[in-house]
Amino acid sequence: LTIVFDLDGVVYRGDTAVPEAVRTLNLLMADGHALYYLTNNSTRARADYARKLTGLGIPTSPENVMTSAYATALYLEARGAAGRSVFVVGEHGLAEEMAAVGLRVLSLDSSDRADFVVAGLDRQFTYAKLSRAYTEVAAGAEFVATNRDPTYPLEGGTEIPGGGAMVASIAAAAGREPFLVGKPQTYALERILKLAGATREEAVMVGDRTDTDVLVGRRLGLPTVLTLTGVTTRAAALAAPQEQRPDFIVETLAELPSVLEVVQGARYARVGKLAG
Ligand SMILES: [Mg+2]
Repeated sequence: LTIVFDLDGVVYRGDTAVPEAVRTLNLLMADGHALYYLTNNSTRARADYARKLTGLGIPTSPENVMTSAYATALYLEARGAAGRSVFVVGEHGLAEEMAAVGLRVLSLDSSDRADFVVAGLDRQFTYAKLSRAYTEVAAGAEFVATNRDPTYPLEGGTEIPGGGAMVASIAAAAGREPFLVGKPQTYALERILKLAGATREEAVMVGDRTDTDVLVGRRLGLPTVLTLTGVTTRAAALAAPQEQRPDFIVETLAELPSVLEVVQGARYARVGKLAG
């Protein structure tokens, strides 16, 4: 199977691996499953995440990591944005991905007009950045958001404001909603399936949020697994709107291998039925 994992709250919180994650992911790799990571976090480059996962004991290459920053870059590249200008509200990972596909990243003091405003989590967000983003969008720049996650989990159970808070402030000022690339939009997950050469029947989505991870999986028709190691409680998952309810809920990833057996079993049963 191709198994797509969210990162924060699923594999780690902050810099600490979530219990059972390291052992289980290594077990799944040894069993021949292809593991991919899909995060709405846009602050760092894919190589940074690959290094972090490898450092935690989960050997990973950058090709197996899809960030909302990279997905946004792929989206803009597909739109023919190379050579055009972008004002970025975000951190270095986002600016690097924009530059890597040939966009000209404008600095705050540049007087050039931006063709695009791209916004994500920015822990150095200021009124000056908000003002510039507003000015560009009001002047006609296309407004693109890496994600709209309201919060972002840290170790120890605390949460901090997420990229959605920056995006909402720009949208409020400009009176315009952005094009959203990250989860729960399906763009990035579809790119992963294409990269993996997997059909929807051969993939599973694992996450800790119903409104992003579960919803994106369900929109593409993938079986979804919610782990309770992140921001969602069992009660909240069961009370989520119908389209955000996971197919499976696990306490930790240690239960994932048996869930995958059920998924594969159900698949064989379905194939058998079709064949019969
Ligand atoms: Mg998460």
